[in-house]
Amino acid sequence: MIVDLHSHTTASDGVLTPRELILRARENGVDCLAITDHDTVAAYDDPELNRDSTVNLITGIEFSAGWHGLDVHIVGLNVIPDSEALTAAVDRQLKARTDRAKLIAERLAAVGIDNALDGARRIAGNDNLGRPHFAAYLQEIGAVSNGRQAFRKYLGHGKPGHVRGFWQPVRDVVQWIRDAGGTAVLAHPAHYKLTNTRLLVLCDEFIAAGGTAIEVVSGRQHPDVTARFGRLADEKGLLASCGSDFHRPGTPWSELGRASPLPSGCRPVWDTW
Ligand code: AMP
Ligand code: ZN
Ligand code: FE
Ligand code: FE
Repeated sequence: MIVDLHSHTTASDGVLTPRELILRARENGVDCLAITDHDTVAAYDDPELNRDSTVNLITGIEFSAGWHGLDVHIVGLNVIPDSEALTAAVDRQLKARTDRAKLIAERLAAVGIDNALDGARRIAGNDNLGRPHFAAYLQEIGAVSNGRQAFRKYLGHGKPGHVRGFWQPVRDVVQWIRDAGGTAVLAHPAHYKLTNTRLLVLCDEFIAAGGTAIEVVSGRQHPDVTARFGRLADEKGLLASCGSDFHRPGTPWSELGRASPLPSGCRPVWDTW
């Protein structure tokens, strides 16, 4: 069974529409899929989204959260999209994203990059603005030659276009997911570049808040890393999730449905559904 519980669409910073994503999931033999756009469930608005029901679609979202000045991502799976809790959380995050986008644009203007807000908005096609939309604008105007460079020079941690300490704390975000009836999953633990000790502290705080799962597999990661997170899940009594974090075709390390399977011994998050 192919399970992919982390993916993005045009509702956030992915390039495929929700329908195109489902088609690709079907082509790639995905049996169970969660769309986890940044801070929105807008992809699920389309009643025809999974018309043929060939893919078992799980409702998902990827919330941005703050932890000691770091951005961490908490995936909510099986959330009730039209619940009061989720609607309130999404409203709050959309406002935060809009405020942050204005700040990013101001800071970019201060280093000589003009009209970034309009540019990012045009590229996104909606108000759910993320740094990748600014990266695309920087590339468009020739300020950088690719997305990675945009993050390295302008948008990454500590650069002018990164606004530090902006999101709500992990414990609040986990609570939003629980209130919306969902399972909270600590996303892509390798991304935070934490020492083992700090990662354990993050896990403990996440668990204390009511988080119950962790992405043991995210995208294409080294088997040693997967084994390490498998042991971590086991030690902490966390359920294991896996996802590609697919954003766009053409990047082989994050093709939809192509993340490696969970290590044996892990208890899959879908066991409880
Ligand atoms: P945001 O939610 O606006 O803070 O943007 C986070 C998104 O930016 C992530 O989900 C990735 O898609 C993308 N991203 C973060 N860091 C990088 C990087 N170094 N290079 C390319 N894309 C990145
Ligand atoms: Zn993203
Ligand atoms: Fe993420
Ligand atoms: Fe993601």
